Amino acid sequence: MELIDLNRHGGIGANCHFIRLGDFNILVDSGLHPKMMGKDALPEHAAIADRTIDLIILTHCHLDHLGSMPLMAARNPHAPIITSLPNTFLAPRMLRNSVNVMKRQREEHGIPELPLFHHREIAIFSRQLYGQRFERGEIHTKGKDQVEVILHPAGHVIGAAAVELIYKHRRIVFSGDILFEAQRTLPGAHLPTGKIDTLVLETTRGAKARCPETTRATEVDRLVNSISAILERGGSCLIPVFALGRMQELFKVIYEARNFGRLPRCPIFAAGLGMDLCNYFDKIRKKTRLIDFDLQMLERMRVKPLEFNLRPGRDLPQKGIYLLSSGMMVEHTPSYKTAAALLPHPKNGVCFVGYNDPDTPGGQLLADPEASHFYFDALEYRAPIRASVEQFDLSGHANREELADYAVQSEARAVVLTHGDTEARNWFCEELKERMPESKVLDPTPGERYTV
Ligand SMILES: [Zn+2]
Ligand SMILES: [Zn+2]
Repeated sequence: MELIDLNRHGGIGANCHFIRLGDFNILVDSGLHPKMMGKDALPEHAAIADRTIDLIILTHCHLDHLGSMPLMAARNPHAPIITSLPNTFLAPRMLRNSVNVMKRQREEHGIPELPLFHHREIAIFSRQLYGQRFERGEIHTKGKDQVEVILHPAGHVIGAAAVELIYKHRRIVFSGDILFEAQRTLPGAHLPTGKIDTLVLETTRGAKARCPETTRATEVDRLVNSISAILERGGSCLIPVFALGRMQELFKVIYEARNFGRLPRCPIFAAGLGMDLCNYFDKIRKKTRLIDFDLQMLERMRVKPLEFNLRPGRDLPQKGIYLLSSGMMVEHTPSYKTAAALLPHPKNGVCFVGYNDPDTPGGQLLADPEASHFYFDALEYRAPIRASVEQFDLSGHANREELADYAVQSEARAVVLTHGDTEARNWFCEELKERMPESKVLDPTPGERYTV
């Protein structure tokens, strides 16, 4: 098997793997780098410019995996884009949002090549989408060659799939992004067991050891207690959330906590792409039963849009829970503007629930717990930090110990590392070499061709 990792900047980056199995040219994911803009954010598509792709596979709808798919689809109009059923609903919606974001970036940063594609290309991409059920293999034929594709539920986010390819009795598995623990809205990963030949493994959390006392359930518990304390002292609670998955999970956490009397009744405000995605989640539940999310929860909690004008430093006109995109409090988003309003007031609190990149405003606010002030660059406002600021670990990624255990039980002949920073990959390299001395552990150089 020939493999090229096209994520040219390494790290988590713009995920995209090319593999050749016999006559088959296969592409798994084609994302955009979350921290780059314009063409810099693209995978190294030029390295496969001379190949016609036969099958494109999409693991899930985060933009670091999906973001540049329309370009690949346009170049390979006859290749089906195989993905799970929920992703056939979500992918076009996520891409349309991405076009709007790119248009904004073009204005703000003066990047003429943006947007990288238009709604027209998304329509073409959508026609190529092919929804496949989990855990049911489908065989594709090219000449005399055959490859079987099986998608396995990967937890992580609705629709997330690990990809198993069977070619001449060899099993190749791409983990995609995985979470083994169940979320409130979604069961955990159910990956293929038994011997695997080549395992392409995500390494996101490789730099951090598991804390034995902390589980997703204990973190949810701690979060509910914090929200309750903030509301009891008469404050408002801001929860910055990722639009796809985390917002819907948090709705469910709050809904259940209220039903069990663990949270007082209070107004709930929500805004951002995540609100629209709630409608999609409801539809996906009805059509596939793969998610536990019912839109009626929002009606019962009387969730309201964020309609009032926010001013930096002026406390929010209504006390309540604010569930707002973006999760890392990126500039110009509802969570950013709301934080600038509530941070100077001691009764309020901010509860971060996911990973915050150190370069984002959320990451910067969390970086120094002793800081007395926070500068909201885009608003030119220096806020005194008087509200509480806490972080809860509701990550969508499996911890490194679980991932290493999975690799070891697979007895993979080769483990290819992906989706992680250098430190994270290094931990996996050492750990797996020690625990799997017979196996080859490969941290590929982007753009380089490997035979595995
Ligand atoms: Zn992801
Ligand atoms: Zn990812």
